[in-house]
Amino acid sequence: MTNGVNRLRVLAASGALLTVGLLTYAPTAAQAPTKDGVIRTADINIRGLKRSDFPKMHKLAENVYVYSGLQTRTDIEMEFPTNNLVVVTRDGVLVADAQINEGDTRQLIAAIAKVTPQPVKYVVVGSDHNDHVGGNSAFPAGTTFIAHPTSKSVLEQRNAAAGANGPKVPVPTELVPDKKVLNLGGTEIQVLFLGRAHTGGDLSVYLPRENILFMSEAYFNRLFPSLYGGYPSEWVAAVKKAEAMNAAIYVPGHGFIDSPQILKEEVVNFRQSLEKIVSEGYRLHKAGVPLQRAARSSVLGSFGYWTRAAQNLPEALGRVYAEADGQLK
Ligand SMILES: [Zn+2]
Repeated sequence: MTNGVNRLRVLAASGALLTVGLLTYAPTAAQAPTKDGVIRTADINIRGLKRSDFPKMHKLAENVYVYSGLQTRTDIEMEFPTNNLVVVTRDGVLVADAQINEGDTRQLIAAIAKVTPQPVKYVVVGSDHNDHVGGNSAFPAGTTFIAHPTSKSVLEQRNAAAGANGPKVPVPTELVPDKKVLNLGGTEIQVLFLGRAHTGGDLSVYLPRENILFMSEAYFNRLFPSLYGGYPSEWVAAVKKAEAMNAAIYVPGHGFIDSPQILKEEVVNFRQSLEKIVSEGYRLHKAGVPLQRAARSSVLGSFGYWTRAAQNLPEALGRVYAEADGQLK
């Protein structure tokens, strides 16, 4: 894939954003390859990749992998990786997050079977959203599901709403309101609640020996923040806590698994994108700009060119307005 073709695609992708009032920004620089040759975007098309390049298993350390599955809803510009952490120990496997449906999660389980004969013992629900739990019933009976209490009730409500014969997801039996330390086959695994972020029950998984932090949906790599049910200012605080841990590798719930250096830089960029949404939301709220006009009145700089910016911005500002009005309890 040549840069010329990529640049055309960048321009095409950016063109969609002009409708949200970003006419003053030059669209070329934001997604140009950086000096390491990587185009920083969550969009597979801009990276010149194909759907057949997925799913993909990345090895992060001797016993740690990230599985990247691709979600393909092109109707809503949703064609980006969804990442699951896989921790292999001599006494079983812990997985954090899974895929959107049973078929896709069975592919995850098959990919794990290729790197270890050990069975999956634990599944951590880092995000209770469908694209991370929808396939959880594919895990074998006897798998222990771990979640924050908030996510447990979300999953219970989901099962209740599905009706007597509707599809059910497993309800977590081990709850982590704050922190849980597991010692599985000689590997220390910390399950952490760093604060409300994308869902309200966001859990991260930290491996102290490897210094790897899987952040689930509290971190997207170059995907514009999605705040459907999220907590804008608390999310900023949660990412700051993660940054303070100074992990060697920060694993995002969505977006590409780039080099540790890029992932570390992008966690900062992601937090700054959230801060921009918060500051723009409060600025417009204070100025009395009605919510329905807020998206086209906001000034996002280069964040406006991130994948799904146009789609996610109105709801993100809506959540900031709700926070400013004291409605997010
Ligand atoms: Zn998601």
